[in-house]
Amino acid sequence: MADVKLRNVTKRFGKVIAVNKVTLDIDDGEFFAILGPSGCGKTTLLRLIAGLEVPDEGDIIIGGRVVNNVHPRDRDVAMVFQNYALYPHMRVADNIAFPLMVRRRELGLSSEEIRRRVVEIAKILGIEDLLDRYPRELSGGQQQRVALARALVRKPKVWLLDEPLSNLDAKLRVQMRAEIKALQRRFRVTTVYVTHDQGEAMSLADRIGVMNEGRILQVGTPDELYLKPVDTFVASFIGSPTMNLLPCEAQEDGGVVTLNCVGFKLRLDPGIGSLVLSKTRGKLYLGVRPEHVRIGEVEGWPRVRGKVTLVEPTGSHAIITLDLGGESFKVIAPREFKASIGDEVVVSLDKDKILIYDMETGRLVV
Ligand code: ATP
Repeated sequence: MADVKLRNVTKRFGKVIAVNKVTLDIDDGEFFAILGPSGCGKTTLLRLIAGLEVPDEGDIIIGGRVVNNVHPRDRDVAMVFQNYALYPHMRVADNIAFPLMVRRRELGLSSEEIRRRVVEIAKILGIEDLLDRYPRELSGGQQQRVALARALVRKPKVWLLDEPLSNLDAKLRVQMRAEIKALQRRFRVTTVYVTHDQGEAMSLADRIGVMNEGRILQVGTPDELYLKPVDTFVASFIGSPTMNLLPCEAQEDGGVVTLNCVGFKLRLDPGIGSLVLSKTRGKLYLGVRPEHVRIGEVEGWPRVRGKVTLVEPTGSHAIITLDLGGESFKVIAPREFKASIGDEVVVSLDKDKILIYDMETGRLVV
């Protein structure tokens, strides 16, 4: 096992800067997710760690060794691709054995030992009955397990997974997610997992790096990203439904700072008020998650009246969309709450959970 460090890593393709001055520290044995929208540079970052791309600038360090010029083969990393990339002309057993076969001499492995290791990993993944089949004779979920088995058969230093669940149906995704997490815990291989699915990243990873336009915007545990997103991009990427961001303006009167929002005012505590005044020019977003809003009045919480524009029952609860003076605003309501489109509803915002962002920079103020 090994830790992975990136130091100011940049990768360009012509005019496109796919990865832009990325610095990251991934701990030994950690499950680290890279989360971001399509085209933000996630796959390129993973391919740089694997050695399939060479950085234009910066260093990639695996287990204390700079590997910029080390061949992928000699980095002792195993990558699982989105499309699994199984060898179609090889049976499952040979696909899994492949990483051992190519290094057979170097590792001093007999055919029996290779077979033993293939069967061992196949049993762990529940595919021992499929060893004689060809990839075309497998379902998507089975192919995925074979790809994972092939990546784990030689217990690499680092496991690199590129959206490995994206070809599976919703139910199988959730099942495989749990299996990948259990496997990673069992082998404790340092893992870098690329996904655009925030739910997947949140449920799997010890820590997540949120990426956009080639840059890492924030690194943190799922809790840290959920509770204190550093900017409006991360705030709107983490959580489902995403955080409400209401435009508002700060006004000072006799030392008291008040936020004027759509249809309500919020008086800020003195410390927070002076921070807002010193750090911004007064144009702000008030951020509050739909689950931190209550239907009805709550003593001491700011409240606002809105019109229901959409009701989405999920079974356990309902997502209600309100129109607040032209702004769309989502609220999680209990299943029992019944509303129709056009109804007027009063909601209260949990004042301890409210975040304030600078509208100009998108950065978190407090
Ligand atoms: P997705 O989730 O859609 O796979 P991604 O976040 O993995 O996207 P990358 O595949 O890393 O993004 O691509 C980052 C940027 O670099 C994109 O603008 C892409 O078009 C560009 N890019 C990636 N590989 C190449 C290449 N070989 N040649 C030219 N441009 C490339």
